[in-house]
Amino acid sequence: MSSLPEHFLVELSSFADGAPVGGGGWIERVNPADVSELVGRVEQVDVEGATVAVEAAHAAFLEWRRMPLSGRCELLLEAADSVASSGEELGPLLARELGKVVGDCRGEMGFAAACLRWCVEHAEQALAEHVIDDDAGRLIVTPVPYGVVTAIVPWNAPLILSILKVAPALVCGNTIIVKPSPIAPLAVTVALKLVADRLPPGVLSVVHGGPDVGETLVAHELVRKVAFTGGGVTAIAVGRAAAATITPLVLELGGNDPALLLGDLNFTDSMMQRLIFGTFLTSGQVCMAAKRIYVARHRLDEFIDRYISVAAELLILGNPLDPQVTIGPMASPQQRTIVEELVADAVARGAVAHCLGTVASGVDLESGWYLRPTLVSAVEHSSPIVQREQFGPTVPVVAYDSLDEAILMANDSEFGLASSVWCDDEDRAFEVARSIEAGMTFINCHNRAGMSLRAPFGGVKQSGFGREFGLAGLSEYLQSHALHAPTMARPGAAPSAANSYPGQ
Ligand code: NAD
Repeated sequence: MSSLPEHFLVELSSFADGAPVGGGGWIERVNPADVSELVGRVEQVDVEGATVAVEAAHAAFLEWRRMPLSGRCELLLEAADSVASSGEELGPLLARELGKVVGDCRGEMGFAAACLRWCVEHAEQALAEHVIDDDAGRLIVTPVPYGVVTAIVPWNAPLILSILKVAPALVCGNTIIVKPSPIAPLAVTVALKLVADRLPPGVLSVVHGGPDVGETLVAHELVRKVAFTGGGVTAIAVGRAAAATITPLVLELGGNDPALLLGDLNFTDSMMQRLIFGTFLTSGQVCMAAKRIYVARHRLDEFIDRYISVAAELLILGNPLDPQVTIGPMASPQQRTIVEELVADAVARGAVAHCLGTVASGVDLESGWYLRPTLVSAVEHSSPIVQREQFGPTVPVVAYDSLDEAILMANDSEFGLASSVWCDDEDRAFEVARSIEAGMTFINCHNRAGMSLRAPFGGVKQSGFGREFGLAGLSEYLQSHALHAPTMARPGAAPSAANSYPGQ
């Protein structure tokens, strides 16, 4: 792709089998920072187009699977280089379609390249055969790919959440179809096309479409695994569609992450910065954002003062293309309304909403889906703003009287995605972290800063099942094939052994 001017209308197609596909009309996307600006459009497929993509992925599977691992790795490393060098061009496009600050958007391309390289480096380990050859016989357990994988992804980190499925699936020998969200369809399509262009046709396809297309990509009998990231209501529809063909799932769903601050924690500037970014990155529209903060009652007033004063420096609301801005508009007016209503409801129940940060000069907050970030205090643990995933730029702070009470409240949620424990004594923090019901507990940080390519990430309870990142994330795209020759089946074995139970 040649250098793109900052403001241009992007027109893209879905692609399958190495060629454009369409037939389902167009998705148009405006800029959340200036809703009068049309950023671009992408052509969707209809159900027939989705079927074409599945059949192409199935046709490509045999050759891709048979290619030596070194061959797949070579192509994926070339793809990583292409994506890494696209950040300067695609970062601004992603910022304009999503409202996420441009530095974070460029970071998506960097992360995608790193994730591809990590999966390549660890593929041999994940694909290693386990061989036992002893008196009982010969057993070979060999990891094999599933075949065609469907990946359905949301909008808040469209390339990151795609590549977390694409990279492990492809390196393990599967082929894959990605269906992005209509809320951020553009940059992810261009970035994944850079990857697909390095691979044989059909190995990686990207198709856009509505729920009918999504469910076709899940329920098709040639699809052998589905990786879904999104909300719980959609996950139920996806689960029903997958049940029709007994297709296994990875579900990465919502969260309502608690951040538990122990009573003797030092409220330093850097600690506060980590906590504030842990909530307000991408305007709080992150599954693993800190969404409820628990503070010892005797430290509450001090906490609120420090939080507000550090946020005043850190949170600059404005146009995501402005490099000084740290928080942009929300991605949709519907989600903004949900957050506004949750804050208004909390205030009506007696809570106090503290407006945080500043507004960058010259920004007209009426031109886009902006919402001033808030900290909500004097709030009960049972309040909807604490109990629900708000998915926006607000966070409640709840007082606790004992550590046991704090742990009970932290665990009192239908969700269990991430969480954090904050304590200057790291050993004590680890000890408390063991009591938290979640797939991930960060220590003294929360959200992106606490992630690692080697640390498995995923939920418990209604936050889903299955893992991304790490060796566990690679293993999601492999199933085991056991090859077994028991000794009793060898020539000359005693007839009495012909029908015995194992181990006898
Ligand atoms: P969503 O559930 O509305 O949409 C997710 C995807 O599903 C989109 O691509 C959408 O087009 C598609 N879809 C919609 N209906 C479908 C159907 N019937 N069949 C198949 N596909 C269908 O979620 P969203 O609003 O895009 O994302 C927000 C949610 O995602 C939040 O709850 C957030 O916490 C969660 N999330 C989780 C993680 C994680 O790793 N656990 C990461 C990011 C976001």
